[in-house]
Amino acid sequence: MEIITAVRGFKDIIPPETDKWRHIEETAYRVFGAFGFREIRVPLLEKTELFCRGIGETTDIVEKEMYTFFDRGEESLTLRPEATASVIRAYLEHTIHAAETVTRLFTIGPMFRRERPQKGRYRQFHQIDAEILGPDDPRTDAELILMLIHFLDKLGLAKLNLEINSLGCAKCRPAFREAIVSFLGGRVEELCGDCQRRLGTNPLRVFDCKVDKCGEIISRAPRLMDFICQDCRDHFEKVQGCLSLFEVPYRLNAKMVRGLDYYTRTTFEVTTEFLGAQNAVVGGGRYDHLVRDLGGPDIPGIGFAIGFERLASLIPDRDQDVSRGPLLFIAALGEKAGERAFMLCNRLRMKGIHVEMDYAGRSLKSQMKRADRLKCAYALILGEREIEENSALLRNMHESAQEEVCLDDLEEIIKKLAR
Ligand code: ATP
Ligand code: MG
Repeated sequence: MEIITAVRGFKDIIPPETDKWRHIEETAYRVFGAFGFREIRVPLLEKTELFCRGIGETTDIVEKEMYTFFDRGEESLTLRPEATASVIRAYLEHTIHAAETVTRLFTIGPMFRRERPQKGRYRQFHQIDAEILGPDDPRTDAELILMLIHFLDKLGLAKLNLEINSLGCAKCRPAFREAIVSFLGGRVEELCGDCQRRLGTNPLRVFDCKVDKCGEIISRAPRLMDFICQDCRDHFEKVQGCLSLFEVPYRLNAKMVRGLDYYTRTTFEVTTEFLGAQNAVVGGGRYDHLVRDLGGPDIPGIGFAIGFERLASLIPDRDQDVSRGPLLFIAALGEKAGERAFMLCNRLRMKGIHVEMDYAGRSLKSQMKRADRLKCAYALILGEREIEENSALLRNMHESAQEEVCLDDLEEIIKKLAR
């Protein structure tokens, strides 16, 4: 019979890759914790309207990438394509904003987008998502970016490119939008079909188009930076000043608009040359009207999302030290010894020590071979004679030295070795 395979674009994460994933998660917990972030877990499924309102009706995500279905014909639901909208929904639903003026939250989990699967692009992928709700002080933007860069640094990824831009605010964006519409309006025939449509619905999205010709036209378009108001300009300069204080290297990218409509002011991306076309590892930015647009009070926010798979692919596999083998292998010979070994093995495991044994009753030689293959640090050899003498042989697998130990002291000895 044929085996059933996973759905296209949905990927298993199997060992030893999972060791790497856990290392990344633990590093995130540690680093984000020191910056005052607490974990939130939100559902994978939300009302479709949350994403339409949050991300924007005319974005690629909402227009063509969402997994949306009618739940028994009653209600339109969507598998979350990103986390920010859900985090804010929870923030409002639990009136977290009433209890504190600054809220820092992070969440790690799967997102779903129906894109064409390829290297670095899946239909279920994972993000590490961090959000700061409350302050609009430029130091908040800098602090978030600093934490991100520090996190990447901790993972040994110092050589990534940070690009930043300011998208302005509700006051200055309309003038820019008008300038773009009139600039692109004169070049409609040169644009791709998608962008011709975007011109009528969401002209800023043309900046995000991956078609070469559109990119070329956009490179000559008016620059947003020339339209932003004094407040936005001051804000952006202060963000840059703070980044310089910590010598965080960055590049200004006036063309970066990001794929979600909710962004205002500071936006940023972390990219790398090593991932080919799928070069964006992190995307983020400020969203000063999103909380209000989702029905809440006027509370500004800023956040980022790290693509977990792309991040993990940049990190070398965990070395032996991290995914090292069990501390002990118990090689038992004969039924009595086997029973004793089974007790001992599981009791030590309950003490938190990784111990392995074999139930197949193989020869000593093949059991020792297995201990070797598993990279056990020690092997305990337990035969009928040893049981009678209440002793066993403890072998150091690295030094090939062995000593006789009394079975009554064994738990203590092994616990000492585990330290
Ligand atoms: P891209 O331009 O590559 O489509 P995006 O702008 O759509 O990225 P965001 O919505 O900003 O991405 O999500 C943040 C990060 O999540 C991206 O930088 C990327 O690392 C990751 N990501 C987004 N879509 C996918 C996907 N389909 N598969 C794997 N990772 C993804
Ligand atoms: Mg995308």
